Amino acid sequence: EAAPGKAEEGRIFVFVRLRPMSKKEKDAGSRSCVRIVNRKEVYLTEFASENDYLRLKRVRGRHFCFDAAFPDSTDQEEVYATTTSELVERVLQGQNGTVFCYGATGAGKTYTMLGTTDNPGVMVLAIKDLFAKIRQCSLDGAHSVSLSYLEVYNETVRDLLSPGRPLVLREDKQGTVAAGLTQYRAFSTDEVMRLLQQGNQNRTTEPTRVNETSSRSHAILQVVAEYKVEDPATKSIITRVGKLSLIDLAGSERALATDQRTLRSIEGANINRSLLALSSCINALVEGKKHIPYRNSKLTQLLKDSLGGSCNTVMIANVSPSSISFGETQNTLHWADRAKEI
Ligand code: ADP
Ligand code: MG
Repeated sequence: EAAPGKAEEGRIFVFVRLRPMSKKEKDAGSRSCVRIVNRKEVYLTEFASENDYLRLKRVRGRHFCFDAAFPDSTDQEEVYATTTSELVERVLQGQNGTVFCYGATGAGKTYTMLGTTDNPGVMVLAIKDLFAKIRQCSLDGAHSVSLSYLEVYNETVRDLLSPGRPLVLREDKQGTVAAGLTQYRAFSTDEVMRLLQQGNQNRTTEPTRVNETSSRSHAILQVVAEYKVEDPATKSIITRVGKLSLIDLAGSERALATDQRTLRSIEGANINRSLLALSSCINALVEGKKHIPYRNSKLTQLLKDSLGGSCNTVMIANVSPSSISFGETQNTLHWADRAKEI
């Protein structure tokens, strides 16, 4: 894959990550219906009806092509290096960048973004990389990396690093800011992992499943890198600021509708407004519309300066291999396929 040049600015880079089959899926007798070909293509076995896919009576298959597709053996470092390291470089040149994980509950979004202590994910690896690189490019070693970690749940914004009352969003020159949000100055990678794990435990849980993060919770990590450089033109010292947003989206399983009519009926049922609004914004960007409806939800308001335009956007679609999740996988791949067109 050639490095994105000027002409590619503004387009979304789309990746697919297949996770390994879980024990539960194996025990349920499911088979794999997703195959990765040539590191770029996803082959999905399609079935005519639910009955057919339960019996694995295959009717046909479909190929989808992405910037890269990761088989279930891919490790966290490779996912980071292929999807996000380029973006970190751009953030260090003073640009903004965004990485989303999209997919059904259980498809591997949190594993990809946060990971585990032994296998840290994109959030931790990106910050580690930022630390390493910012030292080299900052003048006099004067630099800072600050983090904020917040949740959008049911159109309420909360600080995951300092839980308390909901935060109010305000518009200012720099974009949308959550008033009172903790900006955490980070110094080491170990500290960051601990901090994010703690933050993740502060995500909203459903009353009936207290140890499980709600499938409707979006977690947004914003990393602001700031350092001093000499302006090549004027030779004066300037501060460069870049922002990286890393987002573990809510489960996509109940927000699949994209047309307006279904959208309204679903909204009545109090389905995830932020995820729908994100879909609408992406659709509007795909269609080249002038007006992008950022104001329709808290998530899109927060991402206003990080989507479209000259922003660098990366989407990682997570899928399970199991035939049990066929419908969700198909929807995720269709959505990811559409996002490619931006
Ligand atoms: P989601 O956040 O999309 O709901 P999770 O990231 O929690 O899904 O993944 C569901 C389960 O699958 C977790 O137990 C997780 O550790 C495991 N898992 C997901 N992706 C991988 C992977 N690439 N390799 C190993 N285990 C994974
Ligand atoms: Mg999760």
